[in-house]
Amino acid sequence: MSANLRTAAAQLLYLPRIFGLVWATSRLYTTAWAILLVAQGLLPAAVVFLSRLIVDALVDAVGVGTSWDGVRPVLLLGGLMAGVLLLTELFHSAIEWVRTAQSELVRDRISALIHEKSISVDIAYYESAEFHDRLDRARSDANDRSLALLEGTGSLLQNGITLVAMASMLIPYGLWLPPVLLVSTLPALFVVVRFNHRFHLWWQRSTQSRRWTKYYDTMLSSSGAASELRLFNLGGHFMSAYRGIRRRLRAEQLDMVTRQSLARIFAGSTALLISGAAMAWMVWRAFLGLVTLGDLVLFYQAFNRGQGLMRSLLSNVGQIYANSMYIGDLFTFLELEPRVVDPVRPVPIPSPLRDGIAIRQVTFRYPDSEHAALKEFDLVIPAGRTVAIVGPNGAGKSTLVKLLCRFYDPEAGAIQLDGVDIRQLSVEDLRRQITVLFQFPIRYHATAAENIALGDVGAQPSEAQVQAAAESAGVDQTILRLPQGYESLLGRLFVNGTDLSGGEWQRLALARAFVRQAPIIILDEPTSFMDSWAEIEWLDRFRELARGCTVLIITHRFTTARRADEIHVMDQGRIVESGSHAELLAQDGLYARSWTAQINAGTNPPVEASAPEPGMNGQDPGKTPSEALSQANHDLGDRTAFS
Ligand code: ADP
Repeated sequence: MSANLRTAAAQLLYLPRIFGLVWATSRLYTTAWAILLVAQGLLPAAVVFLSRLIVDALVDAVGVGTSWDGVRPVLLLGGLMAGVLLLTELFHSAIEWVRTAQSELVRDRISALIHEKSISVDIAYYESAEFHDRLDRARSDANDRSLALLEGTGSLLQNGITLVAMASMLIPYGLWLPPVLLVSTLPALFVVVRFNHRFHLWWQRSTQSRRWTKYYDTMLSSSGAASELRLFNLGGHFMSAYRGIRRRLRAEQLDMVTRQSLARIFAGSTALLISGAAMAWMVWRAFLGLVTLGDLVLFYQAFNRGQGLMRSLLSNVGQIYANSMYIGDLFTFLELEPRVVDPVRPVPIPSPLRDGIAIRQVTFRYPDSEHAALKEFDLVIPAGRTVAIVGPNGAGKSTLVKLLCRFYDPEAGAIQLDGVDIRQLSVEDLRRQITVLFQFPIRYHATAAENIALGDVGAQPSEAQVQAAAESAGVDQTILRLPQGYESLLGRLFVNGTDLSGGEWQRLALARAFVRQAPIIILDEPTSFMDSWAEIEWLDRFRELARGCTVLIITHRFTTARRADEIHVMDQGRIVESGSHAELLAQDGLYARSWTAQINAGTNPPVEASAPEPGMNGQDPGKTPSEALSQANHDLGDRTAFS
């Protein structure tokens, strides 16, 4: 119990913070809310007091006849009572209205805080399951919990005022009556604190399990999983996994509720016994003629309602206590701090780039990973040149992109722009210089034009700029064929949405990358979705488009890589070979072996390094040019191609 109380005390420290937040969000509504609560707290006491006066006036009037003098006090008091009851109704509706307006404001404010934190924390946080637990708890609990907390506090205030008023009406009958009222509810307090604490611990412990159920639920009902689910007949598998976890969670919860109910029965019986004894004492006094009938009515109402109020008060305390534990989760989430931050005095970004990007002796490990994704990695990307990186899966290519964008900082070494360490630059300035086509770009549920313009929301690209980017990415014609052209809503999630093929989405993402007029272009697998002819045509256009820019292309395709000014072969976190396509073939190393292995695996003769157009010379006459190129485009990701 003492541990419970200690935790309770620690959790209550969050209360001032949440009240501060509520106050800052809605001062006007909060003031109105507090005034109405106090008024609502006093009215029930007025009702009890008036009922005593009415009963006594009635007793006096009984037998006097229907004379005006006898009836007048009763009528007057009755009118007063009606007024108070009307006011109660009025305040009740007013408080409902104020509470809704206030809670909607607070809800939106908390969501905004969670969203702000979600976008500002390091990407590294998203790699940790613990972060997802916290995010899940902050998102699913904190919002409603903060409002429940507010409601609990409001009820506590209102019930507290009514209780004090009721208790003070009991004092004339015996000073000891209010303490007895208090003692009668102590067992209930114990039940409330103990079980709320237990429930919260269980809730925290079971976050992962609940997230698993959410995951299975998504798998069973999302469009992304619908095809595989049907083909591999995975519905039953996921449903049974879902049921298994739910069965366990249900049993655990039911067990807790059973214990709580038993404890509640004990606490309730104790309170009943005490109130019965107090009432018997009062009736005895009425028999002795020490109190009037009106007193008896007042006592019964005050004591009975007092006990009810104490119970409500305890449940309010329980609610506040329980909810403050969840609010704790919200604040621990909001306290997360990004580690990739701006330096105290950022250096102006070198623009335009004169020397280029230098990666010097960079070693990097993902959080909680033993294995270094990049090891003493060195690479120079000269300004205005196009550099390609090829290498098997897991070589560290995408990791390099993440470090260039400063999603992570290296453990050792440095990345420099014209000799300036990127950690000396403001993160925003750095990211503004870069445009990236990620390996798995987002398919935004927005119009085609918006899907492109999202690449540079700050600059709000014009219609012409959006169309130029679409042309550069080779997606212009596809968009024009859509029902509403550039204004067509993409994705199937919303009404009137149109879907695109994987390759078309990829090109749209390319257009998004191009609309951002950045001097550094990074493309992670830009041609993976393109067929060979489309690739050739696009690569030619890209060279034009990227003139003067510093370009890094990560690719599995030789045909894409060979168009670069320099090619680097990466393996196990290091550059192992460098040169032009012809030089790399001449080196007869990993690149040349992979190239030859691919060529030998197919029937088509090699696509020569000196070929004016890739794939345009020396194809197997039995194959279409596109087939021949497809074979040359075997996935370099296969480690066997390198071994
Ligand atoms: P590539 O892009 O060349 O296929 P990556 O850069 O994605 O390779 O991965 C390099 C290495 O880092 C791999 O061993 C991979 O398992 C590991 N890795 C990639 N992403 C993460 C991550 N988020 N957390 C831990 N390890 C990762």
